[in-house]
Parts: sequence; structure tokens; C-alpha cells
Amino acid sequence: MGHFCYFCGELKSNEAFSGKGHRRHLCRACNSIPAAEREESELWGRLHDLMDQSNISKKNIVWLKSLLEHSNQLIRAHAQLILHVAEVAPFRKKRYQRISVFSTKLLERCIDAGLLYPPDSEWGADPSSDEDPEENNEPF
Ligand SMILES: [Zn+2]
Repeated sequence: MGHFCYFCGELKSNEAFSGKGHRRHLCRACNSIPAAEREESELWGRLHDLMDQSNISKKNIVWLKSLLEHSNQLIRAHAQLILHVAEVAPFRKKRYQRISVFSTKLLERCIDAGLLYPPDSEWGADPSSDEDPEENNEPF
């Protein structure tokens, strides 16, 4: 039996872990990545996950604001950008359209940052988009 590494998500044998009593299992390969880099990479994933949620919650906004103090400038810029998105279009549904109406500049910045993608099928063509059962979910 092995463990799932919390960082790379891979199931690895016990030998792949350092063997110390960590609360979270981190494999040797990931353990060799500098901690700051690991943290940034995790934050990165969480920031992108926010955009996939059905809505950006108040709790998320508090967290985003805390990131405005982060030492990494890119993290700060992304947090700022998503905060802006949360103001204009907290809901994922029709977010692209809403932002494009509000500000094409913001839209472009989001696309550049890889946070938004031009929807090819979502442009009102998605028949299930009006009944989204996840609408009221607040993950986190
Ligand atoms: Zn790992």
C-alpha cells in the first residue's frame, strides 16, 4: 500500500515518501521542489479552480483579497483580476458574455491570463446552461 502525494496527486509506494510523520504526504520528487514554488503552484491551481466554480463566493473574495499581499507579483495580478471578475460576473454562467459587455479590456486580460476561454458552444447554444443544479453550491 502506498500514499497519494498531495501535490502531484500520484499514488506512490511508501518508499517514494521520506517516511517522516507528515500530516500530508508529499513524495520525494515533489519534496525536492522549493517550498515557495510548491505553494505558488498550489495557489495557481486554486485560482484557476475559482473560475471553474459555478460562482465566486464571499469567502473566495476574502481569500483573493488576502492574496493581494502575496510576494509573487503574478499571483497578486491574478487575484486582482479574479476579484474584478467576481465584481462583474460572480457566476460562471454567461460570465464570458457579461464581461465582454462590461469591458473588452478585462475580457482580454482574462483570456491572456488563461482564466477565460472564448466559448464556442456556450454562446447561448448550450441547452443545459439555463438549469444549472450547481448554481447555489459554494465549494470551499
Ligand atoms: Zn508528488
